[in-house]
Amino acid sequence: MSICLAIHGGAGTLRQSDLTEAIAAARHEGLRQALRRGFALLRQGGSALDAVTEAVMELEDDPQFNAGHGAVLTDHATLEMDAALMSGADRRAGAVAGICGPRNPILAARAVLDLAGPVLMIGEPALNIARAANLPFEPAAYFLTDSRVAALQRELARRASGAPDTRSDADRHGTVGAVARDHAGHLAAATSTGGLTAKRAGRVGDTPIFGAGTFADDATCAVSCTGTGEVFIRYTAAADIAARIRYRGDSLATAAHDIITELSQHGGDGGLIALGPTGAPELVFNCSGMYRGFVTEDGTLHTAIHREAFCVAAL
Ligand code: ASP
Repeated sequence: MSICLAIHGGAGTLRQSDLTEAIAAARHEGLRQALRRGFALLRQGGSALDAVTEAVMELEDDPQFNAGHGAVLTDHATLEMDAALMSGADRRAGAVAGICGPRNPILAARAVLDLAGPVLMIGEPALNIARAANLPFEPAAYFLTDSRVAALQRELARRASGAPDTRSDADRHGTVGAVARDHAGHLAAATSTGGLTAKRAGRVGDTPIFGAGTFADDATCAVSCTGTGEVFIRYTAAADIAARIRYRGDSLATAAHDIITELSQHGGDGGLIALGPTGAPELVFNCSGMYRGFVTEDGTLHTAIHREAFCVAAL
């Protein structure tokens, strides 16, 4: 079975005009680090579930992306992070929503999955599961970055003034995610996010909703989404890709492209990464860009930001 790992760092990309060479290089390197970390595991015979966990941890630790360290803030200037992961082999799943504390929210989701009980946990009981799993915790200050605080202040000032919303995608949202296929042919998906900048406190997006922002099933595909969460939830984005493959015989490419086009017709801006039991991953989006990358059997790293050709690098 050919191993494969694809990742995204969210559809909240900087405008082409704001993307200096230095920033672009840093984004590409951040993506490559996540690919290297997840792929190292896959190459050693590790599971798809472990590979997506590792890749997402790397992206959560990187303040350039909206998840973990560098997550965006709510309209109450609080941090509420969502994360989920799913195993395609047996549909085991775990997710947390609205949490702040565990250094890596994806590990809190993993702890929920490992308990094999409820699949989606919130609040103090979710944090207690993370504590029981001995996960490292961080104070809120760890997750905060100057650019996210500034983006929140700009957005709150804009709302107070009644001015139209002309923010860049980078100021609005972002997410990180990974999909993988291991040597045994098993698929897995993981997604983690701070959500939308200045989202209403208590709002939960598509990331921790299985079948919306995150889904994995060995028979069809693993999917991780990024974008306007409400639309991805209402149109069950990830599950619909799997359904089109399962019941209609669509190829992964057709299903992924059609869904992302249809979402845009319903006001859903964003993108997704998807991987099937064989073949290459699909990395599609209907907005200006999506931080993204993939690595296949030969170890060549592919990364891209907007609609340019993939930048290729050795492992
Ligand atoms: N989908 C995320 C959410 O709605 C945000 C994003 O990916 O940009 O929470």
